[in-house]
Amino acid sequence: MNIHEYQAKEILSSYGIPIPRGRVALTSDQVERAAKMMGGRCVVKAQIYAGGRGKAGGVRLIHHPEEAQEYAKELFGRTLVTNQTGPEGLKVRRILVEEAVEIAREFYLSITLDRKTSRYVVIASAEGGIDIEEVANRSPDKILTLTIDPFTGLRPYQARKISLALGLSGTICEDCVELILNLYSACQEKDCSLIEINPLVVTKAGWLMAMDAKITFDDNAVYRHREYPDMVDYSQLDPLEINAAKYDLAYIKLSGTIGCLVNGAGLAMATLDVLNECGGEPANFLDVGGGATREKVAEAFRIILQDCDVKGIFVNIFGGIMRCDVIAQGIIEAAGAVGCTLPIVVRMDGSHVEEGKKLLLESGLNVQIGRTLGDGAAKIVQMLSQGVQGHVDTCQ
Ligand code: ADP
Ligand code: MG
Repeated sequence: MNIHEYQAKEILSSYGIPIPRGRVALTSDQVERAAKMMGGRCVVKAQIYAGGRGKAGGVRLIHHPEEAQEYAKELFGRTLVTNQTGPEGLKVRRILVEEAVEIAREFYLSITLDRKTSRYVVIASAEGGIDIEEVANRSPDKILTLTIDPFTGLRPYQARKISLALGLSGTICEDCVELILNLYSACQEKDCSLIEINPLVVTKAGWLMAMDAKITFDDNAVYRHREYPDMVDYSQLDPLEINAAKYDLAYIKLSGTIGCLVNGAGLAMATLDVLNECGGEPANFLDVGGGATREKVAEAFRIILQDCDVKGIFVNIFGGIMRCDVIAQGIIEAAGAVGCTLPIVVRMDGSHVEEGKKLLLESGLNVQIGRTLGDGAAKIVQMLSQGVQGHVDTCQ
């Protein structure tokens, strides 16, 4: 789960990490007022669930409140495309107005979960700021990493080693040690899979300050934090993903034309691989999980049909717990409701499979049955390449 920069900064601040003075605004008038409060000179920052805003024109140093208002008007109407958003970009609905800090040096500092070692790692670089990806590519030796032993936790001497390697000395080095230890506490207590400060700066006045912040919470731990669900900004999420989450379905948008309805992550991956091997390109996949009901399957099918990139559907279900006739009813119900005539291939196996197939074949849908995974994938790819077409009432 992602949150905005201003929310991440509030968390950092509650752990004693210095942040610039700032205000969140929802309208350009509020931006103007916030800019006045900062004394006119300020930094206006688009809040989206992605970084790379500086380079994409989403962060600007402002000198007058009117200039802040003008820029905010432009930002609020805009979809910001950065190197982290994908080509569709993200809409700007909130703006952070911050005091403009005089920066002397910029560092990179983050703590994230390393999936190889199943441990937290601290990552730091003396060359932080908006070009960190370039630094990582060009000179990976300038990126320091330190794996944290979960039994001993992060020790002060380790944090000091990082601070010294960043080139800090004296009291500012000790401030950085404390900051890194606090960051680790925040990471653990808030169940973060990533907590990133880029840039962490030394100001011209000689203070350490977090100038940007990104936090990703571990989705599996969200239930432990009552306040997290209220922190979500739904304007930043794909509406289909929101709908899927409501029904506890895992929906992932991809770039092809074949919608995939499967049960279980393993089967989903196998389905995508086999489809690709047959020359097909998945538009998405929707995992209905183990014991899905007829309503859940119908909702899943409805979500797939709302994706107007979908030109054909491949259903690959192993009905170990689910009954195949129940799945078939769910598909027929959802497809019927939106007048779907798209080509569909269903491969299913398990209990009541014959009843399920019979229901589908007698349903009047544009459906074929796949004998095996390979056969099903080949069939849907073939139908699309032969120009078998259909439509859905909700897509023009
Ligand atoms: P992003 O990482 O999305 O590009 P940042 O918040 O890191 O956005 O901002 C980009 C750059 O703008 C920073 O590297 C920093 O140099 C500058 N910047 C950001 N906030 C401030 C601020 N409050 N005062 C001065 N400079 C800032
Ligand atoms: Mg940044």
